[in-house]
Amino acid sequence: MISRKIAENLTKTAWIRAMFEKGEELRKIHGEDKVYDFSIGNPEAAPPKAVIETLKQFVLEDHAGRHRYMSNAGYYDVREKVAAYVQKEQGIPMTASNIVMTCGAAGALNVVIKTLLDEGDEVIVFSPYFVEYLTFIENHSGVPVVAAACPDTFLPDVTSLQKAITHKTKALILNNPNNPTGVIYDQKTLTDLASALEEAEKRIGHPIYVILDEPYSKIVYDGAVVPRSLQIFRNSILVNSFSKSHAIPGERIGYIAASSAIEDLDILMRGLVSCNRSLGFVNAPSLFQRVVAETLDEVVDIEWYQRRRDLLYHHLLSAGFSCNKPQGAFYLFLKSPVPDDVAFVENAMKYNILLVPGSGFGFPGYARLSYCISWKVIENSLPAFSKLAADYGL
Ligand code: PLP
Repeated sequence: MISRKIAENLTKTAWIRAMFEKGEELRKIHGEDKVYDFSIGNPEAAPPKAVIETLKQFVLEDHAGRHRYMSNAGYYDVREKVAAYVQKEQGIPMTASNIVMTCGAAGALNVVIKTLLDEGDEVIVFSPYFVEYLTFIENHSGVPVVAAACPDTFLPDVTSLQKAITHKTKALILNNPNNPTGVIYDQKTLTDLASALEEAEKRIGHPIYVILDEPYSKIVYDGAVVPRSLQIFRNSILVNSFSKSHAIPGERIGYIAASSAIEDLDILMRGLVSCNRSLGFVNAPSLFQRVVAETLDEVVDIEWYQRRRDLLYHHLLSAGFSCNKPQGAFYLFLKSPVPDDVAFVENAMKYNILLVPGSGFGFPGYARLSYCISWKVIENSLPAFSKLAADYGL
């Protein structure tokens, strides 16, 4: 029999599987573009042309050694290029020795969490949160502690953070731009969080690491900017990937960039490299390390996302729903017209609309829509949303 903990996790996430199976079943009955599947964040946008061209070039080149193991941190020259890129983006000094190449942001998060935690250490996340944070923390014998976001803005609530910190607090995870809300945490909010952390560190006598999970940092709208978070938090470890910026989530490529301001950075880096190996990743995919190093400034077509956001957002408002206008990422967090968000999501299925209940992100009363899908499906879904709104007299 499998581990009790894993069996328990399967039960907790059974609704994700149920949603997936429901989608497959509905697609067989009604056809691909008559099922409005807003449930998962798997971008249908095409990767930038330069990424595909660079890939072709590397595949055609007959280069001895290209397919061998390399340092568990990744190729040195690739890390140098990533360091220069992060230095430019974040405005703080970075060298190859601050960087570890990883299997996406998920791989990076597991490596960072594994490296930092002793058994029973606490990691704070703000709700609504990316549900896998809880699993990643528990993977490494940590304890997730949930702090609240402010009700209307979904910005992290500093007072809630202060209350959540204990002597066992080892880290805080911040996801910006945010999945599931599409909100960008602004400079002031992040600076206030940093002050609260510094105060708490003095009280508890040890650092609280800030794990900055920013895979959507390039997907921002209306000229919005994501603050330079590595500058704001002293003990900060940036986790990023090319899954969303380059629309290549299947290729599993990302990186960790740790701030030079961290005390004992050298030990931290050695720990990260060792965990990249011991968790079984060994090293990030060699071919895609090469591809991303040559295309760091490339970004998927943001207009592609913005058009979808606008179409959906304006229709939902005119149908009577309420939601914030997403500033980044490709999710929209819709207020459920009834307190029971699971019942709302189940009712939406009647119209072939697939959503994820806010409860799945630790935030009941809402539902998440992922709009990185085909234009046709979104367009076809609009009358269905109007019917759904009418069910609640909106
Ligand atoms: N963090 C957040 C907030 C995400 O939404 C995702 C993926 O959807 C990840 C991390 C993992 O991304 P990756 O595909 O780079 O592992």
